Order: sequence, then C-alpha cells, then structure tokens
Amino acid sequence: MTGEAVPGEMVVPRFLGRGEIGFVPKPVREPGRGQLLVKVKANALCGSERGQFFDGSGVTPGHEAAGVVVDAGPETRTAAGTRGVIYLMDFCGECRSCVLGFTNQCTNKRGDVGFNRDGGYGPYVLVNENVFCPTGDDVPLAEATMLLDVMGITGHAIRRGLRLREDVRTLGVAGAGPVGLGTLAMARIWFGSEVSVVISDLSPYRLDLAERLGGKVIDLREKMLAEGLQEHGLDVVDLAIDTSGKGAARQSYLEVLSKRGVLVCAGHGEGLSLDVSRDLIAPERAVLGSEYFCYDELHSNLQLLRDNLPYLGQIITHRFAVQDIQEAFENFLRGETGKVLVEQ
Ligand SMILES: [Zn+2]
Ligand SMILES: [Zn+2]
Repeated sequence: MTGEAVPGEMVVPRFLGRGEIGFVPKPVREPGRGQLLVKVKANALCGSERGQFFDGSGVTPGHEAAGVVVDAGPETRTAAGTRGVIYLMDFCGECRSCVLGFTNQCTNKRGDVGFNRDGGYGPYVLVNENVFCPTGDDVPLAEATMLLDVMGITGHAIRRGLRLREDVRTLGVAGAGPVGLGTLAMARIWFGSEVSVVISDLSPYRLDLAERLGGKVIDLREKMLAEGLQEHGLDVVDLAIDTSGKGAARQSYLEVLSKRGVLVCAGHGEGLSLDVSRDLIAPERAVLGSEYFCYDELHSNLQLLRDNLPYLGQIITHRFAVQDIQEAFENFLRGETGKVLVEQ
C-alpha cells in the first residue's frame, strides 16, 4: 500500500555521453508482483560509472542507493516506510550459487541495478524485493550507502583473502579511491592496531584522507612500493587487495607479497603477468578475484557500520543535490574526493 502520495511522473538525470548529464521526465511505475518502489534519499557515485558518464546510458544509472519504501506490490513482505539500501545484482535466489549464499555469482541473474535496470539517481527506483536490504531507523541513509561498494566490496575481498591466509600482520591496499579507503577502514575495524595497513596512491588528497583513517601511506609519485614499505619498517605484505585495476599496481604488490601471501584483485581493469613457478608454486602464494559481495554480508556489515559510524562517515567527503549531479561527477572524476553523494 502507498505510504505517501507518489507522483505519476518524475524527472531523472539522463547520462547523454561526452561527460554531459541532462534531465528528462520518466513515468513512475507501480510495483508489480514481488516489487518495491523506493524513494531514493542518497546515491553514491562510483568509478565504475565513468563509462556511463562519457559514453551515455539508456537507463538511469546509480547502484549505491539508499531510500525508503513508498509502495509495495503483491506478494511482498516489506512495509511502506521501511528504510534500506539496494543491492546491485538482481540474483535469482534459486541457482546453485544463490542457494549457498553466493548471490554475487548467480548463474541466472535478472539484471544489474543502475547498469541495465534503472538505478538510484532518479527520485524513485523500482526493484525486486530480494535486492532491498532494510537498514533500520538508526542509521542515516546517506551513511547507509557505504554498506554497498565501500563496505560490501571491501569486506568481501578481505574475507576471501582471510580464507587462505589467517595470520595477517601487514595488509596492503593498492589505490586510495573510495574502495581503497573502504578496504583500509574495514581492515582497521576488523584487526585494530594489530595489523599494519599500508595504502598506496598517486593522489595527495586521497593519501591525506587515508592517513586520517589510520593507514600507513605510500605516495607513489615519490617512491616505489618496496621503498615505501621499508620507510614504514615493513618488508613484506601478507594480504594485498588491489582496488586500482592497474597492472603495474598488481605487479608491484605481487613482488612484495610474503611467502603464503595472497593477492586479491577487486578492481576491474588491466592484467597481471605471473611466473607460476617463482610467483605461485615456490612461495605458495595465491591470486584471487573478488566480485562485488554476497547479499548476506550486508547484515554483518550493517552492525559494523552502526558501531563505527563517525569513523566510516569520514569517507564521505562531498554531498550534492541531484540537480548538481554534473558538478558532482566532475569533482569526483578529478580525484580530489573521497566518496561523493548525490542526495534527493
Ligand atoms: Zn560501484
Ligand atoms: Zn541465482
């Protein structure tokens, strides 16, 4: 049932290509069977939207949305007024992966919110109920967006690494963009000061932010990774998470990986060349991929967010009204930001 009056039409940002965003009217559709209509309050910008910003998009982008359910279709259990976040992958819930909880590896995925389904930059978004995760009334919706890429992707990548390597003393993070900063923050929350977290980047703005979050920073404009590690009194990294997607970054972390070390690649992009005998077999290292995260991880991460709200909140550095989404993207892509939000 409708909790508040929902208009029949809304104005949504339209990604035109060539780095231009306009606005167009679009109908607000009524939720069908198993669907929820969510009034979006905040949606975080993501580096993966670079393609949509420069090449254009047929759907309304936005895959890091938080909002309030305003209408629920037949055969749903979520009441109007429920606050929560939207998981990107519309998983089937029934395939071999989904039944084991690996919703990020669904073999029968129905779509990706914000990429081939309308996403969270519009005032309303229609989703299947399975991708909505209630977050309670105590977490502000702006901060709740961090449950998605900032905490979700990063928590999953660290968990994957920890399955193969439990005795981590030093964790390395390649890239201090929002996912890199999220990895640093999740590692600090999980391990406390027991584990040194080094983080490397080329952006002084992002390295400053990383330092405030407790990272041992390495400015790659000035020094090589190995040299930076030594300056922090470290020689090897036990678990490395690549969030940069850069081949050179992966390669340099592979070179400083300890025996039994694990490199988790969480950023899409370039390649990695492996000398299997020298890099993998002899030192028994592992290289893993990590794609988004499992829906159920939202629940444990929600508790971490509640317990560490002011600390994690530092990752959000800019907030724009949706009317200023053009400016939001220009700022974000210049690299002088942490996480940037568009709010409705
Ligand atoms: Zn993203
Ligand atoms: Zn599935």
